[in-house]
Amino acid sequence: MFFHVILTTECNLQCSYCFGEALEDVDADFQGFDVDYSLPKKINYDISLLDKLCRQDSDCIFTFYGGEPLLCIEEIKQIMDNVEAKYFLIQTNGLLLDHLEPEYVNRFHTILVSIDGDEALTDFYRGKGTFRKVIDNLKLIKRNGFGGELIARMTIMEQTDICKQVTWLVDNEEFSFSSVHWQLNAGFWKNDFARRDFKRWSEENYNPGIRKLVKFWVDYMEENRAVLRLYPFLGISQSLLSCEKTSLLRCGGGWINYAIQTDGHIVPCPTMWGMKDYYLGHISNADPLKLKKVFVGEPCTKCDVFHICGGRCLYANVTKRWAAEDYTLVCNTVRNLVDAVAKELPRIRKSIENGRISLKNFEFMKYNGCEIIP
Ligand code: SF4
Ligand code: SF4
Repeated sequence: MFFHVILTTECNLQCSYCFGEALEDVDADFQGFDVDYSLPKKINYDISLLDKLCRQDSDCIFTFYGGEPLLCIEEIKQIMDNVEAKYFLIQTNGLLLDHLEPEYVNRFHTILVSIDGDEALTDFYRGKGTFRKVIDNLKLIKRNGFGGELIARMTIMEQTDICKQVTWLVDNEEFSFSSVHWQLNAGFWKNDFARRDFKRWSEENYNPGIRKLVKFWVDYMEENRAVLRLYPFLGISQSLLSCEKTSLLRCGGGWINYAIQTDGHIVPCPTMWGMKDYYLGHISNADPLKLKKVFVGEPCTKCDVFHICGGRCLYANVTKRWAAEDYTLVCNTVRNLVDAVAKELPRIRKSIENGRISLKNFEFMKYNGCEIIP
C-alpha cells in the first residue's frame, strides 16, 4: 500500500493555482459535504503508529506530503529513523531541500519536485526567485549523492505551452530532468472556470501541444534509443502495449494509495483532507490491507474511455466543482492524449522490435504520485 503522510497543512509558497485560487474560491459552497477545516497544522499523532501500520504491510510505501513537508524536517528524520517502510518518497516544492542532511535525502526512492517549466513560467506561477532556489537545491542534492528518481512535477494551465516547457525541462543548460509529470489545474475549484480561458487554451494550445510532444517523445526513442520518462505517455503507452484495461484510478487514490491527515484520519487522497464523509479509518487502529475502497462514479463509469482513463480524479468526480459541460473539456484532453499515444504505437512497437528500446524501458513504480492522467 501507498500512503501520503501529510506532515503539515502549511506551505512556504503562495502559488497562483493553489493559494490564489483558494482566495478566490473562499465563498464557494462545498455542495453539502461535511468538511473539517480545523485540522492540526502539524502531524499530531504518535509517530510509532506509522510503524505499527507498516508492520502490517511489508510493501508499505510512504510519501511525505503537505502543505510543504520540508517544513517538518525533524518529523521527517524521526519517521525515517524509526519506521520500517519499504520506501520513502517525498513531494516537495524543493525550497528547503538544502536543509535536510544528505544521509536522509539520499534515502528517498523518489523526489517529486514542483517546477512548472523554465524560469519565467515557474516564477510566474510560483513567485519570483522560486526557480533559481529550486534548481540550486537540485544541483546540491545531486552533488551530495542523490541517486534516486527525480521527477519534475508541473502544474499546468493557460500560461503553459506544454510542448515548449516539457522539451525545455528534459534538455536545458540549467538542469535537465529525465522524468516529468504534469497535472492540469482543471476541475479542482468551484468558481474559476468562468474567469478562465480554459476552453480556448485546451482546444487551441494544450491538445495540439500534446500531439506535438508525443511525436517528439517517439522521435527521441528512435534517435537516442531511450524512453524519456514523461509519465502520462509512459503510463498510457504501457497499458496500450500490454493490452491492459483498467477501471481503477491510475493515481491509486481510494483503493491503493491513501492519505493520512495530520490528525491521523485516513482519507482516499491528500486533496480530500477534512472531508468527513470520506474518513476511511484512523491510523490508531486501521488495518492497511483492509481499508475501505472508494471508486469513481458517473460520468466515468459510463464513459467509453474509462478502461484506459480510469476516471482521472476521485476528488473531481465526487465534488463536481466544474459543471458537467465544462468538465467535458477536461475529458476531451484525456481523449486527445490517449489518441495521440495510440497513433504513435506502431512506431513505438517498431522500435521495440528492432531492439532500439525494450518493453522494460516503459516500467515505472505505479502510484508514486504521478497520476498519469493529467
Ligand atoms: S475521460 Fe472523463 S468521463 Fe471518461 S473516464 Fe476519464 S475523467 Fe471520467
Ligand atoms: S488525481 Fe485526484 S484522486 Fe488522484 S491523487 Fe490527485 S486529487 Fe487525489
